[in-house]
Amino acid sequence: MSERYADIIVDISHEKLDKTFQYRVPERLWDTLETGMCVMIPFGSGNTLRKGYCVSIGEECKFDAARIKEIAGIAEKDVSVEDRLIALAAFIRKYFGGTMIQALKTVLPAKHSVRKLEHRHLERLLDKEALLSLQGECERKHQTAKARLLRALAQQPEIPYEWVTGRLGVAASAVKSLEREGALRVVSVSGYRNPVRLRPEEEQRVALSGEQQVIVREFFRDFDGGKTDTYLIHGITGSGKTEVYMQLIAGMRERGRQSIVLIPEIALTYQTLLRFYRRFGDRVSVMNSTLSPGEKYDQCERARNGEIDVIIGPRSALFTPFPRLGLIVMDEEHEGSYKSESTPKYHAREVAQEAARLSEASLVLGSATPSLEAYYRASRGEYRMFPLRQRLTGGSLPTVHTVDPREELRAGNRSIFSRKLQELLEDRLAKGQQSMLFLNRRGYAGFLSCRACGHVMKCPHCDVSLSEHRGGRLLCHYCGYQEPRPRLCPVCGSKYLLGFKAGTQQIEEKLKERFPKARVLRMDGDTTRTRDSYERILSAFAGGEADVLIGTQMIVKGHDFPNVTLVGVLAADLSLGANDYRSGERTFQLLTQAVGRAGRGTVPGEAVIQTYQPEHYAVVHAAKQDYEGFYEEEILYRELSGYPPAAHMLAVQIYGKTEENAKQLAEMLSDVVKSIESRMKVIGPAPATIGKVNDVFRFVFYVKHREYGQLVHAKDVLEEKLRVLQPRRETVQFDFDPMSTL
Ligand code: ADP
Ligand code: ZN
Ligand code: ZN
Repeated sequence: MSERYADIIVDISHEKLDKTFQYRVPERLWDTLETGMCVMIPFGSGNTLRKGYCVSIGEECKFDAARIKEIAGIAEKDVSVEDRLIALAAFIRKYFGGTMIQALKTVLPAKHSVRKLEHRHLERLLDKEALLSLQGECERKHQTAKARLLRALAQQPEIPYEWVTGRLGVAASAVKSLEREGALRVVSVSGYRNPVRLRPEEEQRVALSGEQQVIVREFFRDFDGGKTDTYLIHGITGSGKTEVYMQLIAGMRERGRQSIVLIPEIALTYQTLLRFYRRFGDRVSVMNSTLSPGEKYDQCERARNGEIDVIIGPRSALFTPFPRLGLIVMDEEHEGSYKSESTPKYHAREVAQEAARLSEASLVLGSATPSLEAYYRASRGEYRMFPLRQRLTGGSLPTVHTVDPREELRAGNRSIFSRKLQELLEDRLAKGQQSMLFLNRRGYAGFLSCRACGHVMKCPHCDVSLSEHRGGRLLCHYCGYQEPRPRLCPVCGSKYLLGFKAGTQQIEEKLKERFPKARVLRMDGDTTRTRDSYERILSAFAGGEADVLIGTQMIVKGHDFPNVTLVGVLAADLSLGANDYRSGERTFQLLTQAVGRAGRGTVPGEAVIQTYQPEHYAVVHAAKQDYEGFYEEEILYRELSGYPPAAHMLAVQIYGKTEENAKQLAEMLSDVVKSIESRMKVIGPAPATIGKVNDVFRFVFYVKHREYGQLVHAKDVLEEKLRVLQPRRETVQFDFDPMSTL
């Protein structure tokens, strides 16, 4: 009869995770012991009983079987923060794959000692009016950086020094010059660890609207009645979602509970943070990628010790060790950045739900364009949904013009700007109002479309677009289907078949040709290598330093620009053609966000969408800002084709140094899945979209099933198979309900 052994971690700190001890599992525990459980073990020469965590279970003894010790028992359940984080790690491992160690590393903060640093901040010495008049003066002298700083100081009496040189992009010399002029002073405080500590200003509390009140009331009625739940707030930007979050957080504070607010890094702007600081002062802290590991660790310690009640940050802030977590907010719930790109490839929404359950907390999701997942569940009653229908900032929905470039071509306009867009740009420049031009760069992967009729070459089996490859072949990265590149368009016979490529830089050049006097800012991957430069361009544009902002999807998120009254979307099709089942959803979200950028202020806005597919449902519904209409069509497509959220999908990615071996392993693993159960649908294997990176070959296959649990089972079987195949050179990764087909 075989034996069972478990690897146990005794010291649960990030650095010692790889140090495990093996113990025998007594037979009475065979059915109960699971990875992630807390056990009691005899430890050291004295065999004192200690608490440990089980990270894996197997049948192979790595040591002298005669001398190996035995697990004493399962530890009493206690509800320490550690136990909850370990349980969360076990959940992540089980539902998203990878090892327990990888999951623990995701969940536990890396330990770092924090030097007591000297922190500097700026304090204003003039009142608001004086600052603003000085700002006007600087603007006249074209001292834009100084003007920017003065504007920020007018909003907030104290600003951390790093923000000034970083996010605001103001050089030290400009700060000095303003210090000499008596506008501000630089203050140093030692031993001050909070990356941001601002005094809460007496803040004008707003009276909640009727719709907002309903949410807060219902939420606490549930909560105080002992019912925790997941809520979805569906409301356009400016409908007051953030205000609701802050009320819920305040309510949690009254109840002695803490809150985590997840905001995608890209939307985590200075303005948003300021609102939270004003409301909660130094009870709130921020976790973002600009913090050093020491500062991150420090934030966790402060949370654990009860020094803060609220943490704001991207995905990883989810693991903040609050002792009595009451609320998790996930703003912009539909954002792709909530899915981890490295193993374990977890989705923050699912993990947040489990984290909330473990702490008896509630989860609040918010979005203007909810993910299909969230809306699907809400419509089935799994989440409670609340609408926010009014825009509280005033402003009306923009008028949208949809333009088909084919019509332009026919009318003799060869420019990349349609006549309508040119006319409106001219008008805005004359009026001194701002415009944004947005180019979607996703789906750049070289798909082929017809310039005359707009037809996109698609896979006959998968309804995703084919990618053009060298050697004149079109390839489906989803199922592996291939066909030769046609010479003529199969629909209209035109010979103008083109891969889509038009960068933001090219648009900038064309714009300058057409409107030589326009002041233009450009934002894309090239101009924003760092987060600071991103924020710098946005605040320069917000400060009126340019007439037109050109950019990729980065510019449609975060920031509010009240002076923008025109938005142009160039080539909306770039994302429609992307070879991916989520492209309709992504296009709708991007277009809705882009269009919504126009007319935030008092002047009504207009938007121009240039598209070869003006009749595509994602375009039509985005132009009308009609989420429900879009959802109805999209969910039908997902149901018919068995894509998430109607069914579930597991991508198995195989990476290897030699093409043949990687391919063989991919084929072998997909055969293993096929043999598990007949109703499991297997697609592929095929080379991944980027078939080779750094000489590593990549293959992928997909497993589909209506039940997520079945896919977890398939993953477990594959992991077991891979364990037997050790040692092997290839890497295998699992991606559940992938954000794109790869
Ligand atoms: P969202 O998060 O949905 O974009 P916000 O909460 O940021 O919306 O609200 C948009 C603007 O409306 C903010 O300037 C906010 O201060 C203001 N606001 C929110 N709720 C109210 C209210 N009940 N009354 C007046 N103004 C409000
Ligand atoms: Zn054609
Ligand atoms: Zn295909």
